[in-house]
Amino acid sequence: MKLQKNEIAAYLSGADDSGLYDKARFTCNAVFGSEIYLRGIIEFSNVCSKHCRYCGLRPENTAVQRYRLSESQIIHVAGLLPELGIGTVVLQSGDDPYYSKEMVGSIVREIKLRYDLAVTLSLGDRSRDEYAFWKDCGADRYLLKAEIFDTRMHALHRPGELISERCHRIYQLKALGYETGSGIIVGLPDSTIESLAEDLMQLTAMELHMIAAGPFIPHPNTPLCDAIPGNKDLSLRSLAVLRLMNPDANIPATSALGVNDPFGRIRGLEVGANVIMPSITPESVRKLYEIYPDKNVVKDDVTSVINHLKEDIKTAGYQPSSSKGFSPKYQIQLRSVLLDKTQT
Ligand code: SAH
Ligand code: SF4
Repeated sequence: MKLQKNEIAAYLSGADDSGLYDKARFTCNAVFGSEIYLRGIIEFSNVCSKHCRYCGLRPENTAVQRYRLSESQIIHVAGLLPELGIGTVVLQSGDDPYYSKEMVGSIVREIKLRYDLAVTLSLGDRSRDEYAFWKDCGADRYLLKAEIFDTRMHALHRPGELISERCHRIYQLKALGYETGSGIIVGLPDSTIESLAEDLMQLTAMELHMIAAGPFIPHPNTPLCDAIPGNKDLSLRSLAVLRLMNPDANIPATSALGVNDPFGRIRGLEVGANVIMPSITPESVRKLYEIYPDKNVVKDDVTSVINHLKEDIKTAGYQPSSSKGFSPKYQIQLRSVLLDKTQT
């Protein structure tokens, strides 16, 4: 569905929440039915060289104890997923150059060789050469959030970084054949309903296969410690608007929706999300991946976390899916690339 900026802004202002949410869930059902794709995320390093003002992993936060998982640890944890009925592993970290092109490539290759899993990478800004190499090693997807599109606010919240370069990387990933995801943080300081509507339009214009919009959660050891948290309703409305404008993209109910609200992510499903990404990071380090406070508070072992989540999904009337869960948007694009190849 095409929406004009003023229509998006009206929805974001809460003009018609029940109408918006009903339409968004209806659209999601029409494409995905009641199926919810699960992705197990391994947060393998909390070391970061970037300085994002909103994030607890920035190097200026000296209070956090840093960790790095070894190649064999990462591969071992990924191996838990097939038995848990999850078809995708997401490897995420701070922007940590310790994991070289070859190291990441060998982890991806090994996971693809040993297990029937889709592999998503979310390692931040790297070179085109590295992205291309990891794709050749078998990586299926890459997540790189734009975070905030406004040129000034992007440079303010991500010192030293340019939105044009971030977008350039996202297009590179698409061109390399990754199922490509991006997204924004809702409610960063200085953002407005208008800038948020603009963000949602820009994300839609990028023709992404996966799109995320989660609330900003202030971290006490960052320059934004005293900022007002992102509004959860505004995040739900953003998610629903994204679903209306991008019917066949995968859209997660982000973990940030679940902070201080055990049913926050389920609420995300009710307004048009079709993906949940539980952390399967080993318990010994899980709490240290503190992008924002209470990100990984769950103390249970991985099996109990996943089983509880599946029960919650079922109770809400949805079906947890063990499939790899590629988006129809990506599958259509792949098909047309293959057709082009056979016709030339
Ligand atoms: N370093 C990589 C991936 C890890 S960060 C990168 O930056 O791309 C993963 C995501 O955490 C970021 O994309 C950002 O959207 C989110 N994030 C960081 N700090 C946050 C905060 N305080 N509130 C909400 N989301 C946050
Ligand atoms: Fe590093 Fe990503 Fe956090 Fe920015 S958002 S400081 S790049 S981990």
